[in-house]
Amino acid sequence: MISKNIERIHSESVQTCELCMMEMENVYNNLNLSKEEMDLLDMPKRSFTVHFPVRMDSGKTKMFVGYRVQYNDARGPTKGGIRYHPELSIETLRNFGFLMAIKCALVDIPFGGAKGGIVVNTKELSRAELEKVTRSYIREISDYIGPFKDIPAPDAYTDGQIMVWILDEFEKIKGKHVPSIVTGKPVELGGSKVRNIATSLGGICVLEEALKITDLDKDSINIAVQGFGNVGRNAAQILYREGYRICAVSDSSGGILKEDGLDILKVIEHKDLTGAVLDFPGSQNISNEELLTSDCNILIPAALSKQINKENVREIKAKIILELANAPTTMDANRLLLDQGVIVIPDILANAGGVVVSYFEWIQNLNQDYWDEEKVRTKLDKIMINAFKNVNAICVEDNCTMRRASLQFAINSILHAEKLRGNI
Ligand code: NAD
Repeated sequence: MISKNIERIHSESVQTCELCMMEMENVYNNLNLSKEEMDLLDMPKRSFTVHFPVRMDSGKTKMFVGYRVQYNDARGPTKGGIRYHPELSIETLRNFGFLMAIKCALVDIPFGGAKGGIVVNTKELSRAELEKVTRSYIREISDYIGPFKDIPAPDAYTDGQIMVWILDEFEKIKGKHVPSIVTGKPVELGGSKVRNIATSLGGICVLEEALKITDLDKDSINIAVQGFGNVGRNAAQILYREGYRICAVSDSSGGILKEDGLDILKVIEHKDLTGAVLDFPGSQNISNEELLTSDCNILIPAALSKQINKENVREIKAKIILELANAPTTMDANRLLLDQGVIVIPDILANAGGVVVSYFEWIQNLNQDYWDEEKVRTKLDKIMINAFKNVNAICVEDNCTMRRASLQFAINSILHAEKLRGNI
């Protein structure tokens, strides 16, 4: 018997969550799920399409298409990003919504999963058009979202400003303040401290837990970070401040290597000044391919998907890979990394710190009680360490990868909630 989730990934190209969804096949088999359990996991609770007109700057009206998928809410209101992309499809959002449900269950926060967005290329819109498109979309879906229904957040090509427009439009419709309707807001309007570095902090927290179960001591660690945007730059900076040696970093224009360690604070200054990490004084320019296969024992992909693939996987020397990017490893490479004895901390665990602090933002909004940075960091660490321990316990017991163990833990948790509710 094959589940629809698995059929879907065999039949369509799901750009970034292919590997996770493929692995699900093994998880379903391992857990020996019944047909009713598979059917329940295979179907989103609600998914819908909206069409709405927007008056463009030209004075002409243009129709837009928006979607929202609310996948599973057995563990709590659904939570997930809103993305703006010209090739957005409801099928892709359905898979991302499912993965959000998995991620929330994995770190044990009381949310289900969702994802939505608008079919649009934001580069073709003026700022005024972007605002009108956002507000129109929210008017269409406002009956179906809410602090105890479904809570949106930023995703690809949406940001804090767009979250503020969502907040404002929703509050106008409801006629009252509802800061907990959306997360990823600026701190001045109810956002949480630490949110901008939460993904990197959470990843480093699980990395440090993983180091405790390896024989790598801090002095022997050399780290390479691919990507120097929000996640990669913050990860490099936090690790550097904690005394780790970062030997290589890169951005879209290429990378730099310094065997005895880069001064990351100076690299950030250099990048801010020149727009790239290349040509940093005292370092050697390298390609992104060379960064991935450099002599570092920890590799942190924090840029794009499918960076570690069958072309380069055999050259990878890292002993630990911390997947801060979404789906940086292809399916072929994943299998070979296992053979090579590399520990892969999977994306669904490694980059879950962002949604954990979004959960904190929601709590702070509901209670109108705002936390200082130390409180957010302490609570984030606690959740990430707990998630790592749960995953590692399954790895030890079942002798499986962290990716398999993470999915297994999350699926069990969702099914347990469904059973408690009497749905299966
Ligand atoms: P970003 O756009 O801020 O940064 C991306 C970085 O990657 C940039 O420095 C860019 O120059 C670099 N880059 C692009 N192409 C590259 C290439 N070929 N080689 C090396 N570097 C390249 O994005 P971000 O928010 O830092 O997200 C990075 C990854 O982390 C994405 O996969 C994203 O989905 C994932 N992620 C981000 C968050 C978050 O909180 N921002 C949360 C979960 C997952």
